[in-house]
Amino acid sequence: MTTPAPATPAATEPARHKVVVIGSGFGGLFATQALKRADCDVTMISKTTMHLFQPLLYQVATGILSSGEIAPATREILRRQRNAQVLLGEVTDIDLQARTVTSMAAPGPLVTPYDSLIVAAGAGQSYFGNDHFAEFAPGMKTVDDALELRGRIFGSFELAERSTDPVERERFLTFVVIGAGPTGVEMAGQIVELCQRALRKDFRRIDTTQARVVLLDAAPAVLGAFGPKLSEDARGILEGIGVEVLLGAKVVGLDADGVTYETPEGVRGFVPAACKIWAAGVAASPLAALLAERSGAEVDRAGRILVQPDLTVPGHPEVFVVGDMAALDDLPGVAQVAIQGGRHAAATIRARLRGQPEPGPFRYHDKGSMATITRFSAVAKVQRVETAGFLAWLLWLAVHLVYIVGFKKRLTTLLHWAVSFLGRTRSERTTTPQQVVARNRLRADRDAPPVWPGAVGERPDVRVEDGGTERPRPTAA
Ligand SMILES: Cc1cc2nc3c(=O)[nH]c(=O)nc-3n(C[C@H](O)[C@H](O)[C@H](O)COP(=O)(O)OP(=O)(O)OC[C@H]3O[C@@H](n4cnc5c(N)ncnc54)[C@H](O)[C@@H]3O)c2cc1C
Repeated sequence: MTTPAPATPAATEPARHKVVVIGSGFGGLFATQALKRADCDVTMISKTTMHLFQPLLYQVATGILSSGEIAPATREILRRQRNAQVLLGEVTDIDLQARTVTSMAAPGPLVTPYDSLIVAAGAGQSYFGNDHFAEFAPGMKTVDDALELRGRIFGSFELAERSTDPVERERFLTFVVIGAGPTGVEMAGQIVELCQRALRKDFRRIDTTQARVVLLDAAPAVLGAFGPKLSEDARGILEGIGVEVLLGAKVVGLDADGVTYETPEGVRGFVPAACKIWAAGVAASPLAALLAERSGAEVDRAGRILVQPDLTVPGHPEVFVVGDMAALDDLPGVAQVAIQGGRHAAATIRARLRGQPEPGPFRYHDKGSMATITRFSAVAKVQRVETAGFLAWLLWLAVHLVYIVGFKKRLTTLLHWAVSFLGRTRSERTTTPQQVVARNRLRADRDAPPVWPGAVGERPDVRVEDGGTERPRPTAA
């Protein structure tokens, strides 16, 4: 079935400029919002229906926040922006010549034409060529990842409580976090909070305060990007709360039993642990490589496409790449780079539509970086000011509240923080067997050849927006 062509616009009426935005993360959402008053129609295509606030995923994994608080529906956020529409779909192809984007979802592929394109598909987890580690040490990039980790973390305590074998019990009560960047540090700190405070009185046969939390990294420092002072401060705070910090330890083996690591001197060690969390390494969305191949651009070691100073793809001034997918001037993969990049792309499109001079090269304004370690304790670096402890934690609290989308979400988040940080409980501990089944089904789908609902046993029609001609079904990337 082919979608009927929309009514042909009157001959005198010029066609509105069409902007397609790929991704509903920081880059995609802020770019779309910045086009609110522009004379164009914006179509945001994303493989999820939410705007995910990734920096707080660890709080979903450790039962502080619900997934709804950090992942509001994009459709709801944009409901008042009349020139924006949201489409669910995984983009599998970008045709730079025909200026179309192909996305996949039930009931089949959809081809969407564009005049300007903003690609903000972010990055996924990288296991540095050891993808088999993923089964035993989930990463933390999506809500599914966080819920999976929630199941594993709380599940480990449950299994320890059941176990009668002291060696096995110790394995269940050992948590290994791989990667001592902000995510790893925050996870390690929160698991200690669980063991020492939140779960302390919940079990009868195990003493959760005896649990081991190991933070392991091949690099020689914790939070290396924060500089030597804050790095040492962070390490001191972590060790002070009981985290075992193993630096210069490269993971060379990982299975259900535990983690094998190797030091620079070639000495191997093994940590028996049931629950492992991968917080190291990112790889850009495969769309970066696809765009690079089609445009002749290069990609860096993390798979990010090397963009022009104005964030466009070489030879294609109508295509912008922003956020974690783009490589420019060694900018870090952080939310502010994506937000400001998205806004910059939107500003360039607005200027072109108005016939005004373009803003030119993208200039990043570093607003600082911060990471929490435990309740009431964080490290923060804002320009030349470096601080660790309570003040940094207050700063972290304020900044995160500002960037959580929506007043109601801010309010409930604040309440949940009060419950967890002032009190001793975690209100979001639910994990259900059905969630596990559902997740496994999705995971199986991900690895299988792309078979989409509606595509089984028949060739689905390719729908072309704007009533264009039917195109052959593209090969899924
Ligand atoms: C656990 C964690 C903690 C972090 N903590 C911090 C922090 O404290 N401070 C900080 O500044 N940064 C932090 N970051 C980094 C920050 O979240 C990212 O830099 C930022 O999200 C990048 O924005 P983006 O728009 O490029 O990508 P994302 O926000 O990842 O958005 C990508 C979007 O593209 C969609 N998408 C992907 N592929 C496709 C496709 N093929 N078709 C359609 N849609 C697609 C996704 O569904 C998503 O909506 C953290 C990241 C993680 C994972």
